[in-house]
Amino acid sequence: DISENVVFKSHNAFNRKAPLPVGAVQTVARLYEEQKDLSQTLNAKRHARSVFGERIRTLAQDPQKKQAVLDEAKALKAEISELEDRVAQLEDELHTLSLAIPNDTHPEVPIGPESVAVTLSTHGPEPIPASPARDHVSICRALDILDLEAGATVTGSSWYYLKNEGALLELALTNYALSIALKYGYMPVTTPDVVRADIARRCGFQPRDPVDGAASQMYHLAHTADPAALPSHGHPELVLAGTAEIPLAGMFANRILSASELPAKVVGLGHAFRAEAGARGADTRGLYRVHQFTKLELFVVSGEESSGAVMEEMRKMQAEIFEGLGLSFRVLEMPTEELGASAYRKYDAEAWMPGRGGWGEISSTSNCTDYQARRLHIRYRRQTPPSTDGSSHPAEQAQAAVPFAHTLNGTAAAVPRLIVALVENGAVFDGSGTVVSLKLPRALQPFWVGGNPRGLV
Ligand code: AMP
Repeated sequence: DISENVVFKSHNAFNRKAPLPVGAVQTVARLYEEQKDLSQTLNAKRHARSVFGERIRTLAQDPQKKQAVLDEAKALKAEISELEDRVAQLEDELHTLSLAIPNDTHPEVPIGPESVAVTLSTHGPEPIPASPARDHVSICRALDILDLEAGATVTGSSWYYLKNEGALLELALTNYALSIALKYGYMPVTTPDVVRADIARRCGFQPRDPVDGAASQMYHLAHTADPAALPSHGHPELVLAGTAEIPLAGMFANRILSASELPAKVVGLGHAFRAEAGARGADTRGLYRVHQFTKLELFVVSGEESSGAVMEEMRKMQAEIFEGLGLSFRVLEMPTEELGASAYRKYDAEAWMPGRGGWGEISSTSNCTDYQARRLHIRYRRQTPPSTDGSSHPAEQAQAAVPFAHTLNGTAAAVPRLIVALVENGAVFDGSGTVVSLKLPRALQPFWVGGNPRGLV
């Protein structure tokens, strides 16, 4: 029932505080109906045209009648071409508007802002007392493992260099987390950091503000700064990936996977670039909220019945990664206003950061159900097509046999946040309160290159 669906989707968009143009859901429903009717008419006319050849052949001995049928065929051809243009235009309008409509929401998701998130589990040791002496920026400076000043000179504020054991820590953390992802059957990939804006949109990210067209949280490449100039130059609009989720999802675009390929699990090593417009205060100090970071990202394409189970497996695996690092952390069920456009359900993990004096997000895991798959055309072939009672439309039967897949993404390691947690929890002070070393988890040892010449770790 379309009208019931419009009410449901509008209400859902409201709960999620989705930036939807007024009346968007109703317009999508109307365009969809119009497009369906026109497509049916178009198909009927195409069928009528396909039998003209036969009619004309049978009239070979009657030139007058034959001419009348030829005229009819010409008129029909023009009508078909007009209908095709109209259907294509409707599809375009539908696509643009439907990109703005958020995914449905899992019934257990709490309604409201971040403050109503529900703690699902807590892990690791008891949090140590908060203390300004444990601020990661001063500890990293004392240990000479971070250079924010060079980052500011070379690029700008919130850009940074990791040095000495800081640089080695990044490598050890990514390889450590990667080793666990491999154990869980993920295929390793390195991803492009530059992606087409269109692919980002289809994943549920808005490279430009939907209201005034200004660039949003993504960095646009300068040669495509003026979108109006794009078609004439033949360039696609390109952005720096805000997360490897975008190139990983894009890897599967326009594919029909066989049932035996599912769940398709990939783990991507890439850089995340975030403009972080509007970010201020303590978050922008040091490594907590930066413009570029290395991130190991999990991405899964699953069948529609198994995405819930895949999400639980991702949660278990992330817990194994963070427990191995000895962190105190908790897993939260995120509320509606934190789901973005694409997530049906989202779990965040937060680690205790005593220098910041609070819990800080270290990972985020989303089940996007078929939201991205519909927009990226990712389908799979069922092993046994569902039986039909013969009453459904052939197109619906085909759709049931080759449905849209479900996609999920989750952070395996967002390096700077892990460094903040490890440094603030692991710093070792001497009697006078001077930082003398950094106690790092044993689990990192097999992944550590370069030994310990400064005796700091
Ligand atoms: P998101 O894709 O926004 O869910 O981010 C994934 C993870 O990356 C988060 O859970 C954080 O751990 C980390 N993260 C997000 N934004 C930043 C940032 N600007 N600087 C450093 N880490 C970040």
